[in-house]
Amino acid sequence: MNGQALQTPVEYLKGVGATRAEVLKKELAIYTFDDLLKHFPFRHIDRTRFYKIKDINDDLPYVQVIARLLRKEILGEKHTKRLVAIVQDDTGIMELVWFQGIKWIEKTLIPGKAYVLFGKPSSFNGKAQMSHPEMDLYSPEAAKRKGNLTLQPVYSSTEKLKQFTLDSKGIQKLVAGLLEQYGNTISENLPLYILNRFKLMGRADAYRNFHFPEDAIKLAEAQHRLKFEELFVLQLKLLRTKLLRVQKFKGNIFDKVGTYFNEFYHHKLPFELTNAQKRVLKEIRQDTQRGVQMNRLLQGDVGSGKTIVALMSMLIAIDNGFQTCIMAPTEILANQHYQTIKGVIGDDFLEVALLTGSTSQKARRVIHERLESGELKILIGTHALIEDKVQYQNLGFVVIDEQHRFGVEQRAKLWRKNTIPPHVLVMTATPIPRTLAMTLYGDLDVSVIDELPAGRKPIETLHFYESRRLRMFGFMKEEIAKGRQIYVVYPLIKESEKLDLKNLEDGTEIMRREFPLPQYHISIVHGKLKPAEKEAEMQRFIKGQTQIMVATTVIEVGVNVPNASVMIIENAERFGLSQLHQLRGRVGRGAEQSYCLLMSKDKLSPDGRVRLNTMVKTNNGFEISEIDLQLRGPGNIEGTQQSGLLDLKVADLTTDQELLIQIRKFVEDVFAKDPQLAAPENQVLNQAFQSKHAGLSWDKIS
Ligand code: ADP
Ligand code: MG
Repeated sequence: MNGQALQTPVEYLKGVGATRAEVLKKELAIYTFDDLLKHFPFRHIDRTRFYKIKDINDDLPYVQVIARLLRKEILGEKHTKRLVAIVQDDTGIMELVWFQGIKWIEKTLIPGKAYVLFGKPSSFNGKAQMSHPEMDLYSPEAAKRKGNLTLQPVYSSTEKLKQFTLDSKGIQKLVAGLLEQYGNTISENLPLYILNRFKLMGRADAYRNFHFPEDAIKLAEAQHRLKFEELFVLQLKLLRTKLLRVQKFKGNIFDKVGTYFNEFYHHKLPFELTNAQKRVLKEIRQDTQRGVQMNRLLQGDVGSGKTIVALMSMLIAIDNGFQTCIMAPTEILANQHYQTIKGVIGDDFLEVALLTGSTSQKARRVIHERLESGELKILIGTHALIEDKVQYQNLGFVVIDEQHRFGVEQRAKLWRKNTIPPHVLVMTATPIPRTLAMTLYGDLDVSVIDELPAGRKPIETLHFYESRRLRMFGFMKEEIAKGRQIYVVYPLIKESEKLDLKNLEDGTEIMRREFPLPQYHISIVHGKLKPAEKEAEMQRFIKGQTQIMVATTVIEVGVNVPNASVMIIENAERFGLSQLHQLRGRVGRGAEQSYCLLMSKDKLSPDGRVRLNTMVKTNNGFEISEIDLQLRGPGNIEGTQQSGLLDLKVADLTTDQELLIQIRKFVEDVFAKDPQLAAPENQVLNQAFQSKHAGLSWDKIS
């Protein structure tokens, strides 16, 4: 992508050398000139403006002050040790404080000298203060020199880097030197027609202006250009992966709809499909007639009817002579799918088998045989389905439930189960925002069920502060008296398992006192139980022998108990939005009005308040995921943590949604017109696939 020169190890840049190169690698993962160029400033400061000390207040961002150093001293011991300095201008005095790098900084401070200070001001006991400011000896020439540079870049650095004089300023010097020497070798990687069409700044110009902008407008243009490039290259790669897969893997053709589907649709399906379900079925129908392997992600809230759609797609596969399977992340879920599907299709219609870790050797042997002979058409299970010994006669359609528990590798394993790989439908009940889906699942097609079946009573969500706990107990008793069952969930606190258990134990204690035997029975489920004990406790609840199930979040992706119509979430402020939504999805499965009670302490953080209000306001998982994205940023959304795809350097999936959507469409067009990127004007794009240094984790995609 760049001239060779930019791949030079950073060690060889003037002013770096072996030692600092080592620190740059360790602290900022900067290995090459190119990496350094891509260490963009996180903000710019208007260095034409100087503040007076009396005008400083807490609300200001980073500011510049010219002041004289009066005195300095080191105070405190060990962990309270700090360097304090007092400076003064003609309007007042200000205290400066450092907690780190004390020794080194102390030496550089000379009482009596004037400095240009730069930092984030605060006030402490009514006094102006700045911690860890940048300090430059003041001189009229220096001030003039800075006058040229109206917007000065601020780079992230670390304490370690600062010890090697690589604070923001130090890094700035390196980048300036690099641009001066090698700026001309930054080559354009977008075709001219794209630059023109989207009015983009040239690449070399963009790098220069992002670091050292000529003015604010140029800075914005530079950032836009590099955002565009980043999103564009990523989409180019994702969509090419998809294209290559289409070329490489032929797909089985399901050209007919036969008896199984029709029989089910006309005589067994007990309800009308929602429009969303019909639409998705149509999408799958189209995918499976093209002769290309389908890889489709199906998103939809719990209870939106994904499983039914999956089943009906499977019936079409069976009508065309193929076998099908559903893979679930846990035995409980696999079991549940098995029960549900047997329930809707009936015993005499089609044989359904369950294969999990606990399937007996004998039953397993029978399943293996019937799979190999092709008699068994529907197999449901866990990872056990993809073990090497499990051989299918003609596997044609695979459903994977709960995407993020299975990696790309496991998907690939499924593909090898037949000479022509089966079509794959991945279902997830954790809706993720559209822009994230475009990136995370950018190589898949995405279907969405955004409509609940008619007549479903929406779950009513209430938020109670601790002070209304008695009201909550009263409510629980009313519901139990009506014959309902109740979940009570405690948060799992990762940092402290002990605290977790204590939380749960205390909670259980209170519940036991409030709901005593013999009138009430309680199941308790937590991570410390052995699997068999856990299963036994769950079973007691599923069978209705207990009315209350007290649990940590282990039930999150689990049981379906239609009679359980109340979900109580303790310390609800501690849960993330998507987790709250997942938990709430455990109820609302039966005919009764369901409730979700969010219990929280009285004082909430602003984010905590938004989360709980959002839950009260909406049941729509997509809406919730958008708000979650706004609150937490793309890297923290459930199910995305491990993905390097979201480590974008310039673009931000939260704020650049429209740009991304525009780019995605455009890249689709580019490939539609020129799938091989063979046209002369597209030649330059091919370089994107050769570079290992694109700043993107390409290996995570392919
Ligand atoms: P999901 O897999 O999305 O959680 P399911 O397919 O398990 O949803 O459906 C949830 C419940 O709703 C099931 O009991 C199912 O039979 C029922 N259901 C599905 N689609 C409809 C529909 N169109 N109308 C009424 N009930 C439906
Ligand atoms: Mg389901």
